[in-house]
Parts: sequence; C-alpha cells; structure tokens
Amino acid sequence: MEKINFDELEDVKFEIDKKAFEPESLACSDCKIKMKKAEIEVNLEGSISLKVTGFECPKCKKRYLGLSESRKLDKAMIISRMMRNEFKMERSLSFDGDNFTFRIPKEFTHDVKKKKVEVMPLGANQFCASIQ
Ligand SMILES: [Zn+2]
Repeated sequence: MEKINFDELEDVKFEIDKKAFEPESLACSDCKIKMKKAEIEVNLEGSISLKVTGFECPKCKKRYLGLSESRKLDKAMIISRMMRNEFKMERSLSFDGDNFTFRIPKEFTHDVKKKKVEVMPLGANQFCASIQ
C-alpha cells in the first residue's frame, strides 16, 4: 500500500515572520533594509495559482509572508493536492436514511486520540475531513 508522505506537501517554502500576523512593513534580516510590499503569485500546479500579499527584499529578492497569508497558502496547497487526485482510494458508501457512512483505513490516520471528526464541505459532493 502506498504511503502518504506529508513532508512532500510543502512544495513551496517561504520564511514566515512569526512576530507579525499582518505586518505593515518588514526589514530584510540579511540586508537590513526595508522590504517592499509585493503581490506574490504562487503556482500550486499547472492551472491553479494563488495570489498572496507578502514582502520582497529589493536587494536579495528574499520573500516573506505574514502568518495569515502563509496559512492561506497552506490550506490552498492541501486542497490543491486533493484536487490533483494523486492519491485516492474508493470506499463503498452506505446510507441509513439520515447519514452516509464510509470506513477509513487505519493506515490513513496518525496519532488519533479522540473519536471525533471535523467535516468541512467543499462543494456539493466534496468535503474535507480531519480526525481530531
Ligand atoms: Zn535582502
């Protein structure tokens, strides 16, 4: 059985300034000069890209993202990976009149303590589930 490598989720790396959630201005830690606000377009894959607002050093071109922007990027990358259907398996769905039920193989989970699942709808027949 193929294993999901969660480390491979990080296709794009940015340095995140943890001090500022929505920083107004930033200075480059290497060049000690003020960075310029920049709209950064991140290619998630072929046709999907995401625009985030970050900072770019005019000298060394190093890029920074505020925490809220980097969280936005994290989520987009996870959803993009799901849409790519790189890894999938078919499960049969049963219906009890109120709810649909399907089984998740234990190999898909890691460090699950509580028997609770958070479900976020993504569309009419798509959702994102995370086991708490
Ligand atoms: Zn710099």
